[in-house]
Amino acid sequence: MKRIHCSFCGKSDSEVEKLAAGPGGLHICDGCVETCRVIMDGSEVPPKEFDPGNWPTDRLLGSLEALDRTAESYREHLARAVDALRAREVSWARIAEPLGISRQSAWERFS
Ligand SMILES: [Zn+2]
Repeated sequence: MKRIHCSFCGKSDSEVEKLAAGPGGLHICDGCVETCRVIMDGSEVPPKEFDPGNWPTDRLLGSLEALDRTAESYREHLARAVDALRAREVSWARIAEPLGISRQSAWERFS
């Protein structure tokens, strides 16, 4: 059976109580939702770095497909956002700026 992993802490569906699905293949577990609730209630929670070096091998292997799927999905979201900007006749130069690339690179990448 294919495991689903939390996109934030990497734990699989067998390691957490619940996992909720979000856009682009993202999932969030009950533990990470609780951390979010604490933050939303105004408490300071230090941000966690993505640190797969400490994850068990099975968790790392199990998360690869989901990470790849999420990355691919977000590449598609980026392309659709650029398409929407181009439909509004926003220039390649303006699109390139927040991406930190040249106008030419933006045109080559997205046109
Ligand atoms: Zn989590």
